[in-house]
Amino acid sequence: MKQILVLGGGTGGTLVANLLAKKLKDEAKITLVSASSRHLYQPGWLYVPFGWQDPRGLSRSLKSLLNKRVQLEIGRVSHLDPHAQSVTLESGHTLHYDYLVVATGSRVTPEDVPGLAEGAHHFYTEEAAWKLHAALEEFNGGKIVVGVGGLPHKCPVAPLEFTFLLDEYLTRKGIRQQTEITYTYPINRVFSIESVAEMAEPLLKERGINIETFFNLESVDPEKKLAISMEGSELPYDLLVMIPPHRGAKFLEGSPIADAQGWVYTDRHTLQVKDFPNIYALGDTTNLPISKAGSTAHFEAPVIAEHIAAAIQGRPVDPKHATYNGKVTCFLEAGYEKASILAFDYDTPPKPPTPSWLYHYEKMAFNKAYWYLVPTGVI
Ligand SMILES: Cc1cc2nc3c(=O)[nH]c(=O)nc-3n(C[C@H](O)[C@H](O)[C@H](O)COP(=O)(O)OP(=O)(O)OC[C@H]3O[C@@H](n4cnc5c(N)ncnc54)[C@H](O)[C@@H]3O)c2cc1C
Repeated sequence: MKQILVLGGGTGGTLVANLLAKKLKDEAKITLVSASSRHLYQPGWLYVPFGWQDPRGLSRSLKSLLNKRVQLEIGRVSHLDPHAQSVTLESGHTLHYDYLVVATGSRVTPEDVPGLAEGAHHFYTEEAAWKLHAALEEFNGGKIVVGVGGLPHKCPVAPLEFTFLLDEYLTRKGIRQQTEITYTYPINRVFSIESVAEMAEPLLKERGINIETFFNLESVDPEKKLAISMEGSELPYDLLVMIPPHRGAKFLEGSPIADAQGWVYTDRHTLQVKDFPNIYALGDTTNLPISKAGSTAHFEAPVIAEHIAAAIQGRPVDPKHATYNGKVTCFLEAGYEKASILAFDYDTPPKPPTPSWLYHYEKMAFNKAYWYLVPTGVI
C-alpha cells in the first residue's frame, strides 16, 4: 500500500490529510507528523494583546480534527532526504514515504535583527501576544511604534489590522490623546499590494497615525529605546511592536527542496516541489509570490489532495482541482467594529471595499466557525 506522509498539523497539513482520507479511504496509508499535538488558530492572536480574546480558546487537540483514517505521529522533523524518500524525527525515528506533503508553516526569527528580541513586542506567538497584553495594560501614554521587521511574513495585513485596533483600544482606554502611534513599512507605501495601500493610507491619516515608509529595520537599541532603519532613520519609542522576520522550518533551511531561509521551491500551479514530483508543499512554507495565510493553504489543499489521489488511483486529475490559481480571501479589521475584505489571485489584484460592520461580523463569525469548516474540509 502506498504511504503518504504529511508534515505539519496546522491549517494546510490537517486539511490536506483529511481530504486525502476522504478520497482514498483504505487505498493508502496516511500519516501526519506534527511537532505539536495542538492545532492552533493563529488569526485569533490579533485580539489577545487588547484582552478581547483568551488564547486558551484558540487551540484544539489535533487528533480531534483528523479523520480516523489518518495516523498521527507527534514529533519534530529534523531531516528530510528526498532521494531516499525518508524523513527523520528528532527522536531518531525514520519514516519512509511514496508521497510527501510539506506543510510545516513558518516560524518567527527575532534573532535575525540585533536587539529585536530584547527590545520589541509582537503577537505572532501565543506567548508573545500574552506579553504584549501585559505591556499594553501597563501602558499609560507615550510613543508606540508598530512595524514589520522583515518580509515575507505571514498574514501580511495583520500589522495594519493591529494598528487600527490599537487606535480603538487606546481610545476606549481614554489615553489615545496622550499617545503618538507611528506605523512603519519597508517599501514606499503602507502595504505591498497597491490597492490595499490606497484604501488603508487615508484611514491611518484620519486616525492621526504617523506613517514612516521605506523603513527597513536594521536594529533595535533597547537601552536607548530606538528602532533604527537601514535607510538611516531612528524612531524613539516607549513601546515597540515589530513583526519579526520569518523563515521556514529549520530542517528545510538549505535542504535540497528549499532555499537558505527554508522556503520550499514550489510550482505555482501544481504545488509540486521542484525536481521531486512526489513531493508537494502548501501554506506558509512555499516560496510562492502569494500571501502566507491560512486562506492560501485552504485553497491550495484540494489541488494537492486531488493530484496525489489521482496518481494512486491511476486516473486523470479532475480538472476542477487541477491547478491552484493563487486564490486568497482575507478580512482586514479596521477598528471600531468595521472591516474590509481582500479577495485576489495571481492575476487579479484585490479591490477592498470601504470598511463596514458587515465584514467585521463576518470575520467574527468565521473565527468561531473555523473549527467546524476549514480543517475538516467542509468548505
Ligand atoms: C496574528 C496572526 C493573524 C493571522 N490572521 C490571519 C487571517 O486573518 N487570515 C488568514 O488566512 N491567515 C491568517 N494568519 C496566518 C495563518 O495563521 C497562517 O498562514 C496559517 O496557519 C498557515 O498554515 P500552515 O499550515 O502553512 O502552517 P501552520 O498553521 O503554522 O502549521 C504548521 C504546522 O507544522 C508543524 N511543524 C512546524 N515545524 C515542524 C517540524 N520541524 N516537524 C513537524 N512539525 C512541524 C507545527 O507544529 C504546525 O502544526 C494569521 C497569522 C497570525 C500569526
